[in-house]
Amino acid sequence: MRVVVVGAGVYGAAVAAALARRGAVVTVVDGGAPGSGTSGASFSWVNSRNKQPLVYHELNVAGMAAHRRLAAEVPLSDWYHGGGGIEWGADEAAKVDALKELGYPAGLLTRAEALELEPGIDPERLPAGGIAYFPDEGWVEPTRLIAHLLSRAVEVITQDAVTSLDISGDVVRGVRLESGLELTADAVVNCAGPQAAGVAAMAGLALPMRNLPCVLVYTSPVAVPLSRVVHAPEVHLRPEGDGRILLHSGEIDENAQGAVEKLVRDATSVYPGIRAASVESVRTGERPIPGDGLPVLGRVADVRNYFFAVSHSGVTLCLHAGELVADEVLGEDREDALAAFRFERFEESR
Ligand SMILES: Cc1cc2nc3c(=O)[nH]c(=O)nc-3n(C[C@H](O)[C@H](O)[C@H](O)COP(=O)(O)OP(=O)(O)OC[C@H]3O[C@@H](n4cnc5c(N)ncnc54)[C@H](O)[C@@H]3O)c2cc1C
Repeated sequence: MRVVVVGAGVYGAAVAAALARRGAVVTVVDGGAPGSGTSGASFSWVNSRNKQPLVYHELNVAGMAAHRRLAAEVPLSDWYHGGGGIEWGADEAAKVDALKELGYPAGLLTRAEALELEPGIDPERLPAGGIAYFPDEGWVEPTRLIAHLLSRAVEVITQDAVTSLDISGDVVRGVRLESGLELTADAVVNCAGPQAAGVAAMAGLALPMRNLPCVLVYTSPVAVPLSRVVHAPEVHLRPEGDGRILLHSGEIDENAQGAVEKLVRDATSVYPGIRAASVESVRTGERPIPGDGLPVLGRVADVRNYFFAVSHSGVTLCLHAGELVADEVLGEDREDALAAFRFERFEESR
């Protein structure tokens, strides 16, 4: 079976690797370089907090487990970092209770316990107790993950966007690329992230998206002992490669102008050692968000061999959801897991 996967972000790479492992001949096509889309500018926290409804929470929990499994399976895997997540702010005890009820590992730390895990935090910024800790969480270096997945017997065409599909009746026969190259295909998977609506339109499918612009600040390398995902009330931090620290805030995303200095100031108030760092780069990204916020995964009723793998939280979800989508591309029906995430829900609500 010959499959063309459109997009070489975490989703495209995960779907392609799952297909190749099961014997499909896979070509991944990207208009840029692998990981140059949202996946290369993501906070990439692997978690299932605040994920509703329950079926979406469960999909994310399965996504977390898939990351741990893959990292354990591959010798010298260097993209997955566990260590859990720490958060303090309002209502942590209530959040912890609600998540524990769902079976999500969660607990409360005292200030001393939190400082044992994260000694770089300014102790005065921490409450005396009620600091939430979620031991199963982690974060991923998406470009390393993508490189690993694409190394699994997949052909990759870069810097050559898919511009149209060759469709007859309800079947896609192939794709045409910007360069003029034409690829025949027994199946096409749309993994185009924020551009998924454009690639859906090529198949005559109207996929509503409400993408959100985001800002990520990368500091210069700095000697701060930060080793996990930390959510302080005004800033989120995690380690980035080579001693750099990655900063993010939902509030800044909403009001990006002139906000970078505030983000660094806020981070320094949590980890005083960050004072020694400068801003090395600021990247803007675009969260790929389907119209109702939930993933769009798997087969499409009107185009028999066209499939979706599009969502926010794609870093958490890609390995698990990628397997489910690959199952459907290869002819299995995964309605058991994917019923809530079908493209057709948008057509029904029109
Ligand atoms: C600031 C920020 C923070 C985030 N934080 C988290 C987080 O903590 N945890 C989490 O799980 N998720 C997080 N996300 C979301 C997550 O990063 C995305 O869901 C995920 O990266 C999407 O991956 P993707 O492969 O679908 O898209 P992308 O990585 O964007 O890949 C799509 C690819 O398709 C290519 N493409 C598009 N159109 C075409 C075409 N016509 N032809 C060929 N190629 C094409 C693009 O060039 C691109 O490389 C965050 C996102 C942002 C922006």
